[in-house]
Amino acid sequence: MISPAPLVDQFARRITYLRMSVTDRCDLRCAYCMPERMTFLPRSEVLSLEELRGAALGFIARGVRKIRLTGGEPLVRRDVMDLVRALGRQIGAGLDEVTLTTNGTQLAQHAAALADAGVRRVNVSLDTRDRALFAKLARRDALPQVLGGIAAARAAGLAVKINAVALKGLNQAELPELIAWAHGEGHEITLIEVMPLGEVDGDRTDHYLPLSGVAEDLAARWTLTPSGHRSGGPARYFDIAETGGRLGLITPLTNNFCEGCNRVRVSATGQLYPCLGGAEQVDLRAALRSGDPDAALAAALDTAMRIKPERHHFAISARGEAPALPRHMSHTGG
Ligand code: SAM
Ligand code: SF4
Repeated sequence: MISPAPLVDQFARRITYLRMSVTDRCDLRCAYCMPERMTFLPRSEVLSLEELRGAALGFIARGVRKIRLTGGEPLVRRDVMDLVRALGRQIGAGLDEVTLTTNGTQLAQHAAALADAGVRRVNVSLDTRDRALFAKLARRDALPQVLGGIAAARAAGLAVKINAVALKGLNQAELPELIAWAHGEGHEITLIEVMPLGEVDGDRTDHYLPLSGVAEDLAARWTLTPSGHRSGGPARYFDIAETGGRLGLITPLTNNFCEGCNRVRVSATGQLYPCLGGAEQVDLRAALRSGDPDAALAAALDTAMRIKPERHHFAISARGEAPALPRHMSHTGG
């Protein structure tokens, strides 16, 4: 049998990494991510477990080697562990890695099962270790659960990477302490710039903190050495001599990483976004719900490869301006 063609776009970039949002729902309401009164999608619009699995297998057949489940909060979806187990069975049969990005609130319940299913590491979003600030940022007083989730993940043998959105005047002053804590616990940590995705209640440009300045402040305190580590995404990495750990800086508003881009995203409704910062999309749900899902899915993936843009074009919106893209990160999957 001839194996299906790998996913290569018109700029000769090979797509090997899929980020899949399994739900748009979440138990937190991070102020930069969604409004307090977020309208979630009717369940009929969200891909079923079978459809998620079918889409993932379609990607694996075309050469995707790493799948990250995200959301919304992936662990609030009731059948998510069935999907993790199904994907775990593909490890070594085309797939190298299944992982997830989680807010950590439900991690304590799921950590052991994730490890059993073949998951080796998870990204946990944690912007602050100050309980009052956490409650303000996430609009829920859930810091103890998240820290418990991280501890459970470690106890289950999972490597944990911390993701923190850097926010001017909010967690800005705490960032060095957060980095030192993460490294002290043996976690990698990555700082993220806030992105203009979807309407929220306030104006997130008020808290936009360019990481170039953060890096300068950190370099004045510690010895930062650029690291050779690459992830095929927008992160640059540094080793910090004093803390003994690795720091990633994600500056998505620059686009000098686009040329090495190896990823695409699928939303909870089955929209394939070839670029997080672009308006291009392909409807995989229609393909999966058609009379010949295998052929329709293959054709949809070919279309995605034709329309994946060379680079993204989003810029931080000026104060008071609408976000660059109307869809929320929780829809596309961060
Ligand atoms: N709920 C999970 C979590 O929080 O890790 C997974 C989904 S969440 C959308 C993925 C990541 O996107 C989180 O690290 C979150 O902090 C980040 N995020 C959400 N909205 C963002 C925005 N507008 N700009 C930058 N990062 C954002
Ligand atoms: Fe939920 Fe993650 Fe968005 Fe926070 S960042 S509201 S945890 S989806």
